[in-house]
Amino acid sequence: MSDDETLTHVNVFPGLDVNDYYDLKEMLGDGAFSKVYLAESRNESGGYCAVKIIDKEELNKDEDKMFLVDKEIEIMSQLDHPHIVRLYEVYESKTEVCLVMELAKGGELFDKLLEEGCLSETVAARIITQVLEAVHDLHSRRIVHRDLKPENILFYNNTHASKVLVVDFGLSEYEEELNKESPVCGTATYLAPEVIAQTESNRAQDLWSAGVITYIMLCGYPPFFKESGDKSETKLLRMIVRGKYKFHENFWSHISEEAKHFVSRLMCADPRLRLSVEEALCHPWIVKNRTWNYKDSWLCIVIQSLMYILIFTAVLSLYFIMLTGYFDMQDHLLSRLFQTKDVALNICHSIVSGLETVCTSSLFKLSSMFTFNS
Ligand code: ATP
Repeated sequence: MSDDETLTHVNVFPGLDVNDYYDLKEMLGDGAFSKVYLAESRNESGGYCAVKIIDKEELNKDEDKMFLVDKEIEIMSQLDHPHIVRLYEVYESKTEVCLVMELAKGGELFDKLLEEGCLSETVAARIITQVLEAVHDLHSRRIVHRDLKPENILFYNNTHASKVLVVDFGLSEYEEELNKESPVCGTATYLAPEVIAQTESNRAQDLWSAGVITYIMLCGYPPFFKESGDKSETKLLRMIVRGKYKFHENFWSHISEEAKHFVSRLMCADPRLRLSVEEALCHPWIVKNRTWNYKDSWLCIVIQSLMYILIFTAVLSLYFIMLTGYFDMQDHLLSRLFQTKDVALNICHSIVSGLETVCTSSLFKLSSMFTFNS
């Protein structure tokens, strides 16, 4: 990188130490040549981010692989998409390259799958739609990610409806620079048959990986895996090249035909017959699950909380009225608290009518939503 180089929206600081500007905290994850840390900015406004520290010595052990980091920075610096992690700054010293990135606090999709086994169709579709939107942005710039996998899909935060971000552009490449002899890289489970067989290498490989990720999200296990005792990956790679996999009855019987069709149109061994990212985003399974889901929406949470508050207030008021009646202190207590009995009765009356309005309007919204969805 040249001195004082400024990429699209990324500041590059050659010779500066990232530790002078950020307080590095716990490790968030690591890879072959890098470690990613949670970091807090030392400037007045503060704020958290993720810092990926790439060890230059480790990277260059066998051969000079600095070009990979330069490519990662070059590609990331062009990207500005809600489902792609943002690169803010780059610090470079003699021993390290440090990428300061947007922080994804919610952890990897990989860990969510380990925890939950598999995901519902709605959740799986919502996640893969966001990944496909990120891939659409990449492909429109002729960039191929080449390493899509659950470890590289991160949740932005810990809420149940959190958006996801695609990370790790360490293997990404411009499509025109790919050819069938391009070195096979990435994680075996997600590699497309044509990449392993070295018959073709283009953007279609990202769609195969998206298919494998969807398969895993829906059933909880990968379509191709190493048999126990099989030390090398040769057998696994051969199975992928053959491109034959099953939707095992035990695990797939409850899953819709549309979902299976979506997976099989992505995990199609011939890259020319595979869906493009535009086609995948228009697939009926994606479109169906993209329509607004009332149960997952913030409106549902607001209405529910409002109902609880109103019910609680109504019960409390009723209890209060009954109690004052029981001790025959109605006039005395009410007049002390609200000056007159009428005021108290008016308040109770407005609570009851407020409750009535909210119930009617939520019922109306629900019925109009069902009409809309049908
Ligand atoms: P690999 O060798 O597996 O390709 P890598 O060295 O290229 O990894 P990344 O994949 O970029 O490194 O990051 C490794 C891990 O660090 C990720 O899987 C993720 O858990 C975590 N991580 C990366 N970027 C972020 C981020 N922006 N926010 C939070 N965690 C992150």
